[in-house]
Amino acid sequence: MRLDKLLANMGYGSRKDVKGLLKKKHVSVNDLVVRDGSMHIEPSTDVVKVKDEVVEYKKYIYLMMNKPAGYISATEDTREKTVIDLLSPEMQHFQPFPVGRLDKDTEGLLLLTNDGNLAHQLLSPKKDVYKTYYAKVEGNVTEEDVKEFTNGVTLDDGYVTKPAILEVIQRGSISEVKVQITEGKFHQVKRMFIAVGKKVSYLKRIRMGELELDSSLTPGNYRELNEKELSYCQ
Ligand code: URA
Repeated sequence: MRLDKLLANMGYGSRKDVKGLLKKKHVSVNDLVVRDGSMHIEPSTDVVKVKDEVVEYKKYIYLMMNKPAGYISATEDTREKTVIDLLSPEMQHFQPFPVGRLDKDTEGLLLLTNDGNLAHQLLSPKKDVYKTYYAKVEGNVTEEDVKEFTNGVTLDDGYVTKPAILEVIQRGSISEVKVQITEGKFHQVKRMFIAVGKKVSYLKRIRMGELELDSSLTPGNYRELNEKELSYCQ
């Protein structure tokens, strides 16, 4: 990786800021002052210092995003906007990918990482991690629906879902609910409501296991996971 890119990625400011540090001879590689930002760095062996402080090179990033509607959960697409388009060039440089999928029109908690092991663990169906969604549903969600979700509903392809927890927040012609599921079948929440004769008009994931969507993140925004949050994922 180029030295200037590495420093920008590790939070030493913009490319311009990094240029300034190099010019002022604040940067060394293996204890030799370097002024050329294009120098190739081997992050696992080269020791980079800024003002005599060792730069800890980060290999992996773990991001929590509040996915907005209108973006697909993919790394690239010829026609659609992807969640990767919402990341800064510095973050894109790490080549993160979304862990699991949310539909294009679904909002809320999405994890992005370049750590394949963590992604694999989190997606493992053996883990039975509850994913919690807030939904607006056309129609009056009944106690019967709650029971059906607990027992498992039969989807359009004949699949019977594992027990799910349905909690009604507000009843009415448009009901507000919370749904917790452990599986991640294609369009699962929407199809579960179709199975009981109702239509989801708004869907937002708010929790995955212990990890809760940061309510200060507005749609389209993201931040790195903190240590505690990261420990929930491992
Ligand atoms: N269930 C759905 O129907 N859509 C999602 O995006 C996630 C869960």
